Amino acid sequence: MKAITYQSLGEIALSELDNPEPAQHEVVVKVHASGICHTDIDILYGRYGSSKFPIVPGHEYAGEIVSVGKGVTNLSEGQRVVVDPNFHCGDCRSCKKGLTNLCDKLGAYGVTQHGGFAEFSAVHQDNIFPISDMPYGIAALAEPVGCVLNGLDAIDTDACENAMIFGAGPIGMLMALSLRTKGVNDITMVDLNDSRLELAESFGLKAIAAASDDLTSTEKSVDLVADATGVPQVAEKLINYAANGGNVLFFGVCPPGETIAVSPHDVFRRQIRLAGTHSLNHNIPEAINAIEAIGPEIERLVSHRVELNEIKAFLEKSNQSNSLKVHAVTT
Ligand SMILES: [Zn+2]
Ligand SMILES: [Zn+2]
Repeated sequence: MKAITYQSLGEIALSELDNPEPAQHEVVVKVHASGICHTDIDILYGRYGSSKFPIVPGHEYAGEIVSVGKGVTNLSEGQRVVVDPNFHCGDCRSCKKGLTNLCDKLGAYGVTQHGGFAEFSAVHQDNIFPISDMPYGIAALAEPVGCVLNGLDAIDTDACENAMIFGAGPIGMLMALSLRTKGVNDITMVDLNDSRLELAESFGLKAIAAASDDLTSTEKSVDLVADATGVPQVAEKLINYAANGGNVLFFGVCPPGETIAVSPHDVFRRQIRLAGTHSLNHNIPEAINAIEAIGPEIERLVSHRVELNEIKAFLEKSNQSNSLKVHAVTT
Protein backbone atom coordinates (compact mmCIF):
# COMPACT_ATOMS: atom_id res chain seq x y z
CA MET A 1 0.00 0.00 0.00
CA LYS A 2 0.99 3.62 -0.37
CA ALA A 3 1.74 5.50 2.83
CA ILE A 4 3.32 8.73 3.95
CA THR A 5 6.24 7.92 6.25
CA TYR A 6 8.39 10.01 8.53
CA GLN A 7 11.80 8.44 7.94
CA SER A 8 13.78 10.51 10.42
CA LEU A 9 13.61 14.02 11.87
CA GLY A 10 12.43 16.35 9.10
CA GLU A 11 12.42 13.67 6.41
CA ILE A 12 9.13 12.60 4.76
CA ALA A 13 8.63 10.05 2.02
CA LEU A 14 5.81 8.53 0.03
CA SER A 15 6.51 4.84 0.68
CA GLU A 16 5.29 1.46 -0.45
CA LEU A 17 4.51 -0.65 2.64
CA ASP A 18 3.02 -4.13 3.09
CA ASN A 19 -0.74 -4.06 3.60
CA PRO A 20 -1.42 -4.48 7.32
CA GLU A 21 -3.05 -7.68 8.62
CA PRO A 22 -5.35 -7.41 11.64
CA ALA A 23 -3.79 -8.85 14.81
CA GLN A 24 -6.01 -10.24 17.54
CA HIS A 25 -8.66 -7.67 18.57
CA GLU A 26 -7.75 -5.45 15.60
CA VAL A 27 -9.53 -4.47 12.43
CA VAL A 28 -8.03 -3.08 9.24
CA VAL A 29 -9.57 0.19 8.09
CA LYS A 30 -9.40 1.37 4.48
CA VAL A 31 -8.75 5.06 5.10
CA HIS A 32 -11.12 7.39 3.22
CA ALA A 33 -10.33 10.75 4.89
CA SER A 34 -7.34 11.66 7.01
CA GLY A 35 -6.65 15.17 8.32
CA ILE A 36 -3.45 17.08 8.99
CA CYS A 37 -3.07 18.42 12.52
CA HIS A 38 -0.41 20.90 13.56
CA THR A 39 1.06 18.26 15.87
CA ASP A 40 1.84 16.15 12.78
CA ILE A 41 4.38 18.79 11.88
CA ASP A 42 5.64 18.94 15.48
CA ILE A 43 6.17 15.16 15.41
CA LEU A 44 8.19 15.45 12.20
CA TYR A 45 10.54 17.95 13.80
CA GLY A 46 10.77 16.22 17.20
CA ARG A 47 8.71 18.77 19.16
CA TYR A 48 5.96 16.31 20.10
CA GLY A 49 5.68 12.54 20.69
CA SER A 50 8.38 9.94 21.05
CA SER A 51 10.06 10.51 17.65
CA LYS A 52 10.16 6.78 16.96
CA PHE A 53 10.86 6.74 13.25
CA PRO A 54 9.93 5.48 10.74
CA ILE A 55 6.24 6.14 11.44
CA VAL A 56 3.13 6.69 9.34
CA PRO A 57 1.66 9.96 10.67
CA GLY A 58 -2.04 10.87 10.81
CA HIS A 59 -4.32 10.61 13.85
CA GLU A 60 -7.55 12.16 12.49
CA TYR A 61 -9.04 9.55 10.18
CA ALA A 62 -12.15 7.74 9.14
CA GLY A 63 -12.79 4.87 6.78
CA GLU A 64 -14.33 1.48 6.19
CA ILE A 65 -13.51 -1.80 7.93
CA VAL A 66 -12.15 -4.21 5.34
CA SER A 67 -10.94 -7.06 7.56
CA VAL A 68 -11.53 -8.20 11.10
CA GLY A 69 -9.03 -10.01 13.35
CA LYS A 70 -9.64 -12.83 15.83
CA GLY A 71 -11.48 -11.91 18.99
CA VAL A 72 -13.13 -8.81 17.52
CA THR A 73 -16.67 -8.37 18.77
CA ASN A 74 -19.40 -6.01 17.55
CA LEU A 75 -17.53 -4.83 14.43
CA SER A 76 -17.77 -6.20 10.92
CA GLU A 77 -16.45 -5.73 7.41
CA GLY A 78 -18.08 -2.88 5.51
CA GLN A 79 -18.75 -0.80 8.61
CA ARG A 80 -18.05 2.93 8.33
CA VAL A 81 -15.97 4.09 11.31
CA VAL A 82 -13.78 6.76 12.84
CA VAL A 83 -10.63 6.16 14.90
CA ASP A 84 -9.80 7.37 18.40
CA PRO A 85 -6.00 7.43 18.07
CA ASN A 86 -5.04 7.25 21.76
CA PHE A 87 -4.14 4.21 23.82
CA HIS A 88 -3.10 4.06 27.45
CA CYS A 89 -1.76 1.59 30.02
CA GLY A 90 -4.64 1.59 32.49
CA ASP A 91 -2.25 1.16 35.45
CA CYS A 92 -0.45 4.46 36.02
CA ARG A 93 -1.62 7.15 38.42
CA SER A 94 -3.16 9.27 35.64
CA CYS A 95 -5.04 6.32 34.15
CA LYS A 96 -6.37 5.33 37.58
CA LYS A 97 -7.73 8.85 37.99
CA GLY A 98 -9.46 8.59 34.61
CA LEU A 99 -6.98 10.93 32.93
CA THR A 100 -6.01 8.40 30.27
CA ASN A 101 -4.89 11.21 27.96
CA LEU A 102 -2.10 11.92 30.46
CA CYS A 103 -0.98 8.28 30.74
CA ASP A 104 2.72 7.78 31.49
CA LYS A 105 2.85 5.39 28.53
CA LEU A 106 0.41 7.26 26.28
CA GLY A 107 0.59 6.07 22.69
CA ALA A 108 -1.35 7.00 19.59
CA TYR A 109 -1.86 5.91 16.03
CA GLY A 110 0.08 8.38 13.93
CA VAL A 111 2.42 9.23 16.81
CA THR A 112 3.84 6.00 18.26
CA GLN A 113 2.22 3.50 15.85
CA HIS A 114 1.38 3.72 12.17
CA GLY A 115 -1.57 6.03 11.60
CA GLY A 116 -3.91 7.33 8.95
CA PHE A 117 -1.83 8.75 6.09
CA ALA A 118 -1.88 5.36 4.39
CA GLU A 119 -4.31 3.40 2.29
CA PHE A 120 -4.96 1.01 5.19
CA SER A 121 -4.52 1.13 8.96
CA ALA A 122 -4.68 -1.67 11.56
CA VAL A 123 -6.52 -0.42 14.63
CA HIS A 124 -7.53 -2.02 17.94
CA GLN A 125 -11.28 -2.58 18.26
CA ASP A 126 -11.42 -0.39 21.38
CA ASN A 127 -10.30 2.57 19.23
CA ILE A 128 -13.03 2.17 16.60
CA PHE A 129 -16.35 4.05 16.58
CA PRO A 130 -19.11 3.51 14.01
CA ILE A 131 -20.36 6.66 12.23
CA SER A 132 -23.43 5.28 10.40
CA ASP A 133 -23.91 7.45 7.27
CA MET A 134 -21.87 10.52 8.31
CA PRO A 135 -19.59 11.53 5.38
CA TYR A 136 -15.97 10.47 5.94
CA GLY A 137 -14.73 14.04 5.45
CA ILE A 138 -16.88 15.17 8.37
CA ALA A 139 -16.22 12.11 10.55
CA ALA A 140 -12.47 12.73 10.26
CA LEU A 141 -13.11 15.91 12.28
CA ALA A 142 -14.22 13.84 15.30
CA GLU A 143 -10.69 13.63 16.73
CA PRO A 144 -10.01 17.39 16.74
CA VAL A 145 -13.56 18.04 17.99
CA GLY A 146 -12.86 15.46 20.73
CA CYS A 147 -9.75 17.42 21.74
CA VAL A 148 -11.79 20.63 21.82
CA LEU A 149 -14.49 19.00 23.98
CA ASN A 150 -11.84 17.68 26.36
CA GLY A 151 -10.58 21.27 26.59
CA LEU A 152 -14.05 22.64 27.27
CA ASP A 153 -14.56 19.95 29.95
CA ALA A 154 -11.97 21.86 31.98
CA ILE A 155 -14.26 24.91 32.05
CA ASP A 156 -17.66 25.46 33.63
CA THR A 157 -19.16 26.55 30.33
CA ASP A 158 -22.64 26.85 31.89
CA ALA A 159 -21.29 29.83 33.83
CA CYS A 160 -19.86 31.48 30.68
CA GLU A 161 -21.95 34.17 29.01
CA ASN A 162 -19.29 34.97 26.45
CA ALA A 163 -16.05 33.62 25.05
CA MET A 164 -13.12 34.86 23.01
CA ILE A 165 -10.84 32.58 21.04
CA PHE A 166 -7.46 33.67 19.71
CA GLY A 167 -6.78 31.97 16.39
CA ALA A 168 -9.57 31.52 13.84
CA GLY A 169 -7.90 28.54 12.19
CA PRO A 170 -9.63 25.16 12.04
CA ILE A 171 -9.08 24.34 15.73
CA GLY A 172 -10.23 27.73 16.98
CA MET A 173 -13.28 27.50 14.75
CA LEU A 174 -14.09 23.96 15.93
CA MET A 175 -13.85 25.24 19.49
CA ALA A 176 -16.26 28.09 18.74
CA LEU A 177 -18.78 25.83 17.02
CA SER A 178 -18.53 23.27 19.83
CA LEU A 179 -19.00 25.99 22.45
CA ARG A 180 -22.15 27.05 20.67
CA THR A 181 -23.56 23.51 21.07
CA LYS A 182 -23.06 24.02 24.82
CA GLY A 183 -25.20 27.16 24.79
CA VAL A 184 -22.49 29.84 24.65
CA ASN A 185 -23.60 32.11 21.81
CA ASP A 186 -21.59 35.30 22.32
CA ILE A 187 -18.28 34.20 20.84
CA THR A 188 -15.57 36.44 19.40
CA MET A 189 -12.73 35.18 17.22
CA VAL A 190 -9.44 37.10 17.14
CA ASP A 191 -6.97 36.70 14.30
CA LEU A 192 -4.40 38.62 12.26
CA ASN A 193 -5.69 37.25 9.00
CA ASP A 194 -8.64 39.04 7.36
CA SER A 195 -9.84 36.01 5.45
CA ARG A 196 -10.02 34.03 8.69
CA LEU A 197 -11.98 36.83 10.33
CA GLU A 198 -14.38 36.77 7.38
CA LEU A 199 -14.68 33.00 7.75
CA ALA A 200 -15.58 33.45 11.44
CA GLU A 201 -18.26 35.99 10.52
CA SER A 202 -19.66 33.67 7.87
CA PHE A 203 -20.34 31.20 10.70
CA GLY A 204 -22.18 33.91 12.65
CA LEU A 205 -19.33 34.58 15.08
CA LYS A 206 -17.98 37.99 16.03
CA ALA A 207 -14.55 38.79 14.64
CA ILE A 208 -11.91 41.21 15.90
CA ALA A 209 -8.54 41.94 14.34
CA ALA A 210 -5.56 41.21 16.61
CA ALA A 211 -3.86 44.36 17.95
CA SER A 212 -6.89 46.55 17.14
CA ASP A 213 -8.62 49.08 19.39
CA ASP A 214 -11.70 46.88 19.29
CA LEU A 215 -9.66 44.19 20.99
CA THR A 216 -8.39 46.56 23.67
CA SER A 217 -11.96 47.52 24.51
CA THR A 218 -12.74 43.88 25.47
CA GLU A 219 -10.24 43.79 28.34
CA LYS A 220 -11.54 42.23 31.57
CA SER A 221 -14.89 41.40 30.00
CA VAL A 222 -14.73 37.78 28.82
CA ASP A 223 -15.76 34.69 30.82
CA LEU A 224 -13.69 32.25 28.75
CA VAL A 225 -10.57 33.32 26.90
CA ALA A 226 -8.86 30.54 24.93
CA ASP A 227 -5.70 30.33 22.91
CA ALA A 228 -5.85 28.33 19.70
CA THR A 229 -2.66 29.76 18.21
CA GLY A 230 0.11 28.06 20.17
CA VAL A 231 2.01 31.35 20.11
CA PRO A 232 3.44 32.15 23.58
CA GLN A 233 3.13 35.93 23.05
CA VAL A 234 -0.59 35.44 22.45
CA ALA A 235 -1.00 33.05 25.38
CA GLU A 236 0.67 35.61 27.64
CA LYS A 237 -2.02 38.22 27.01
CA LEU A 238 -5.08 36.03 27.59
CA ILE A 239 -5.48 36.97 31.26
CA ASN A 240 -5.91 40.66 30.29
CA TYR A 241 -9.19 39.84 28.55
CA ALA A 242 -10.63 37.55 31.24
CA ALA A 243 -13.45 39.06 33.30
CA ASN A 244 -13.26 38.85 37.09
CA GLY A 245 -13.91 35.22 37.99
CA GLY A 246 -13.20 34.24 34.39
CA ASN A 247 -11.32 31.37 32.79
CA VAL A 248 -8.23 31.13 30.62
CA LEU A 249 -7.71 28.00 28.53
CA PHE A 250 -4.27 27.23 27.10
CA PHE A 251 -5.30 24.99 24.21
CA GLY A 252 -2.90 25.79 21.36
CA VAL A 253 0.36 23.84 21.43
CA CYS A 254 3.08 26.31 22.43
CA PRO A 255 6.65 25.13 21.80
CA PRO A 256 8.13 23.16 24.72
CA GLY A 257 10.43 25.21 26.93
CA GLU A 258 8.81 28.57 26.14
CA THR A 259 7.68 30.62 29.13
CA ILE A 260 5.28 33.52 29.67
CA ALA A 261 4.94 36.12 32.41
CA VAL A 262 1.79 35.93 34.54
CA SER A 263 0.89 38.25 37.40
CA PRO A 264 -0.02 35.97 40.32
CA HIS A 265 -1.57 38.98 42.01
CA ASP A 266 -3.94 39.45 39.09
CA VAL A 267 -4.87 35.75 39.14
CA PHE A 268 -5.49 36.01 42.92
CA ARG A 269 -7.25 39.34 43.07
CA ARG A 270 -9.49 38.82 40.04
CA GLN A 271 -9.98 35.11 40.77
CA ILE A 272 -8.94 33.88 37.33
CA ARG A 273 -8.85 30.15 36.64
CA LEU A 274 -6.04 28.96 34.38
CA ALA A 275 -6.62 25.67 32.60
CA GLY A 276 -4.80 23.51 30.11
CA THR A 277 -5.77 20.25 28.47
CA HIS A 278 -3.98 17.72 26.33
CA SER A 279 -5.39 15.68 23.47
CA LEU A 280 -8.68 13.85 24.03
CA ASN A 281 -9.90 11.53 26.78
CA HIS A 282 -12.49 9.16 25.26
CA ASN A 283 -14.42 12.07 23.73
CA ILE A 284 -15.17 10.55 20.30
CA PRO A 285 -18.83 9.57 20.92
CA GLU A 286 -19.49 13.04 22.35
CA ALA A 287 -17.65 14.56 19.37
CA ILE A 288 -19.84 12.68 16.90
CA ASN A 289 -22.90 14.11 18.68
CA ALA A 290 -21.43 17.63 18.64
CA ILE A 291 -20.65 17.36 14.92
CA GLU A 292 -24.25 16.34 14.26
CA ALA A 293 -25.45 19.29 16.36
CA ILE A 294 -23.19 21.72 14.45
CA GLY A 295 -24.55 20.44 11.14
CA PRO A 296 -23.07 20.05 7.65
CA GLU A 297 -21.57 23.58 7.53
CA ILE A 298 -18.70 22.17 9.64
CA GLU A 299 -17.30 20.78 6.38
CA ARG A 300 -16.48 24.33 5.26
CA LEU A 301 -13.50 24.07 7.62
CA VAL A 302 -11.94 21.53 5.28
CA SER A 303 -10.23 23.70 2.66
CA HIS A 304 -8.26 21.05 0.78
CA ARG A 305 -9.04 17.49 -0.23
CA VAL A 306 -6.02 15.98 -1.90
CA GLU A 307 -4.59 12.59 -2.74
CA LEU A 308 -2.18 10.90 -0.39
CA ASN A 309 0.85 11.72 -2.54
CA GLU A 310 0.01 15.45 -2.30
CA ILE A 311 -0.12 15.40 1.52
CA LYS A 312 3.67 15.36 1.72
CA ALA A 313 3.87 18.94 0.45
CA PHE A 314 1.38 20.14 3.05
CA LEU A 315 3.29 18.44 5.87
CA GLU A 316 6.53 20.07 4.73
CA LYS A 317 5.08 23.60 4.75
CA SER A 318 3.76 24.08 8.25
CA ASN A 319 2.21 27.54 8.21
CA GLN A 320 -0.17 27.86 5.35
CA SER A 321 -2.38 30.68 6.42
CA ASN A 322 -4.57 30.18 3.37
CA SER A 323 -5.43 26.60 4.29
CA LEU A 324 -7.79 25.29 6.94
CA LYS A 325 -8.12 21.56 7.51
CA VAL A 326 -6.32 19.58 4.83
CA HIS A 327 -7.56 16.04 4.18
CA ALA A 328 -6.08 13.17 2.25
CA VAL A 329 -8.99 11.45 0.57
CA THR A 330 -9.40 8.19 -1.29
CA THR A 331 -12.55 6.83 -2.83
ZN1 LIG B 1 -4.46 16.49 16.33
ZN1 LIG C 1 -1.44 4.94 32.09
